[in-house]
Amino acid sequence: MKVQSTTTQQDDHFLISNYDYKSTNIEKNGDKYIAKPQITNFKFKTDTRIPKLGVMLVGWGGNNGTTLTGGILANKFNITWNSRRGTHQPNFYGSLTQSSVIKIGTCNTEEVFVPFKDVLPMVNPCDIVFGGWDISSMNLADAMNRAQVVEYDLQQKLRPYLEKLVPLPSIYYPDFIAANQGDRADNVIPGNNKLEHLNIIRKNIADFKQQNNLDKVILLWTANTERFCVEDPNIHGTAEKLLKSIESSHPEISASTIFACAACLEGCSFINGSPQNTIVPGVIELAEKAGVFVAGDDFKTGQTKFKTCLVEYLVGAGIKPKAIISYNHLGNNDGKNLSQESCFKSKERSKKTCVDDILESNKVLYPTEEELNIDHTIVIKYCPETGDSKKAMDEYIAEIFLGGRQTFAVYNVCEDSLLAAPLIMDLLLLCELFERIQFQKDASEYQRFDTVLSWLSYLMKAPKSESGITTINSLSRQRAMLENLVKVCAGLTIDDNLRLEVRYG
Ligand code: NAD
Repeated sequence: MKVQSTTTQQDDHFLISNYDYKSTNIEKNGDKYIAKPQITNFKFKTDTRIPKLGVMLVGWGGNNGTTLTGGILANKFNITWNSRRGTHQPNFYGSLTQSSVIKIGTCNTEEVFVPFKDVLPMVNPCDIVFGGWDISSMNLADAMNRAQVVEYDLQQKLRPYLEKLVPLPSIYYPDFIAANQGDRADNVIPGNNKLEHLNIIRKNIADFKQQNNLDKVILLWTANTERFCVEDPNIHGTAEKLLKSIESSHPEISASTIFACAACLEGCSFINGSPQNTIVPGVIELAEKAGVFVAGDDFKTGQTKFKTCLVEYLVGAGIKPKAIISYNHLGNNDGKNLSQESCFKSKERSKKTCVDDILESNKVLYPTEEELNIDHTIVIKYCPETGDSKKAMDEYIAEIFLGGRQTFAVYNVCEDSLLAAPLIMDLLLLCELFERIQFQKDASEYQRFDTVLSWLSYLMKAPKSESGITTINSLSRQRAMLENLVKVCAGLTIDDNLRLEVRYG
């Protein structure tokens, strides 16, 4: 695709697009709103040179880590496999960037769509170099077998590639994850000195980058859900305090926060795929100083994605959700870890906040704070027999016309890591792309996006935003935001869905 427009320029290195952003400024005058439409000029500059990307996963030997690595290798080497349903080809189903499409315009009256990945130059997932850490020493072939996610025949075909991949020893603070994980922790950096731990992780990153001749590295936490650290401004509040607390091996510094600090100090962006509060203010300051991004929290895969769609639909239709009761049972190692109350609490928080802004937006349905406090209950049970095939049962009770009730009972069976792996890939590819984009507002200096990369909220259960910016949980708004951003950067027109060119020529 090539954009021909007077507002877009392209040379060998950069694509620059000029964009008049239309918004509406609202002023309150007593009980009236005064709406003042306005236009602000933005310039987006995208570096079109694709770097050699390395990714280091924390929790590489887990279900997500092995499924992602194996899935990408299967695509890279076009490995087919057999099951009782026949012969299968590898694909990237479930990946927004690789398998979804974007409307770029109309040809006569026909709408034209292209793959998301083709709008701006992006890293090919098959070119990513993977590495990482795990507290379990198993090579990735054995770890994939332990995970019981991937079909047996594909596991066998991937074995020659995966058995050479062995996770680096990791930091293990048993107090932060469930006690039941202790029996797999045979690959642990010794000692209790947190500064030494930080330095070892930093060295691992630097070595990985150098040994693989990489242009950049991104770190992603897909290890077990930790309990929340007890956040304290004196411990975590600034970069300086955080580094001091690491130096004194403070007990409220989690392993995930050490990894986040190491990433920032090595000039790498960091993504938190689990719900815990890894990205404390001191981490954000370190990232800001290093000019890298942080993003989180918790991958938004099946049940929550659906929840943010359904609640958006109900509230958008003027129907009032009054209760959401969510049961999950799962039998993988994630479920085992979540069976400990402290870790479950982290997950409960991220699952519970995901509809708040959708409800808050509608003051017709929810005129008071009290009414916003709907029954939203989360239950997670570990049931080993279920394996990675997670069952989610949700009941949505809503109030309709004249006091009536509408109830949805939703049963969602999903193979957790087969949903998470392509989503992790999208997080990495989009984070890398956003590192190459700068913008200019009203002819000011070019700057990069905010340190907390909330553009990725479509992929996160509890999206972290820059301070002062409201979080958007609605799935369609999150997706539109991402789609529109790449279109604007490419110099394409954003679709307002009026379709006037089709209706009236
Ligand atoms: P998993 O238990 O199979 O894998 C986690 C891996 O992390 C294990 O191999 C474990 O040994 C390792 N680990 C634990 N502590 C570590 C440490 N300090 N350093 C390095 N490695 C460590 O879990 P999973 O199914 O792969 O999920 C990973 C994370 O992603 C979990 O926190 C889960 O809650 C989160 N998540 C998963 C999904 C999904 O759909 N799969 C969705 C949202 C969030």
